[in-house]
Amino acid sequence: MNHRARKRFGQNFLVDSTVIDRIVASIAPQPGERIVEIGPGRQAITGPLIAAGADLAVVEIDRDLAASLQQRRPHLEVVCEDALKVDFSALSSGRRWRLVGNLPYNISTPLLFHVLQQNEPPVDMHFMLQKEVVDRMTAAPGGGDYGRLSLACQNLAEVTPLFQVGPEAFDPRPRVDSAVVRLQPRPSPRVPTVHQAAFDQLVLRAFSMRRKTLRNSLKGHVDPAAFEATGIDPVARPETLSLDAFAALAAYVVEQTS
Ligand code: SAM
Repeated sequence: MNHRARKRFGQNFLVDSTVIDRIVASIAPQPGERIVEIGPGRQAITGPLIAAGADLAVVEIDRDLAASLQQRRPHLEVVCEDALKVDFSALSSGRRWRLVGNLPYNISTPLLFHVLQQNEPPVDMHFMLQKEVVDRMTAAPGGGDYGRLSLACQNLAEVTPLFQVGPEAFDPRPRVDSAVVRLQPRPSPRVPTVHQAAFDQLVLRAFSMRRKTLRNSLKGHVDPAAFEATGIDPVARPETLSLDAFAALAAYVVEQTS
């Protein structure tokens, strides 16, 4: 495919066949399965998915790439649109579906939430992302990577890091390392929906003042008795608090105000 990589669409095309094989093996596509791929580009993953017999639909923002793909594969369902605006439930039409993509770095986080908040989320997702983003998504309490993204993702999905990919696997080479991650949306979020707004606020507040103790950062949002009631140390810092601990604080706040 004669196509110059467009920076504004985050086009770094996978060229390493070992990496491509590893990604496809992780996805393990089954014949007849509904799979949606975001950003097929030059078909690095698209080709093997079709060869495996998947019932594939692709979403590609770049008109030239989408047109050339459609020309080469007249039977492939090609949607030329911004994935952030796609109504995925229309693409899956109520069926079990899976989502895959080697995502441009600039859309990875908003896309994740766009998808996780759909009424019918996919059964799983396999994404290649900037390694740093995968580290943050999968981080456990206690380290510098743990924060809002870890809590938001782990609330909605089981998140498993799979493997790392270096810049040399792409053309052109990106300046950062990448990693492949699997997300399996939960049947329902770990934080009950009625506590979600309070949870989001507490997490936002606590991590916007990462160096402060919870007692200080949450002053005015959580009354001091909340710490004793939930067994959470008021002088702890936010990165040491588990999702369940934030959820307990949120539940306390909601109960106090209702
Ligand atoms: N899948 C190919 C591969 O692995 O070589 C291409 C990966 S490249 C990192 C990202 C692809 O996503 C490009 O084809 C790009 O045009 C497409 N893309 C970028 N932004 C997009 C968006 N908002 N919606 C849909 N596709 C997008």
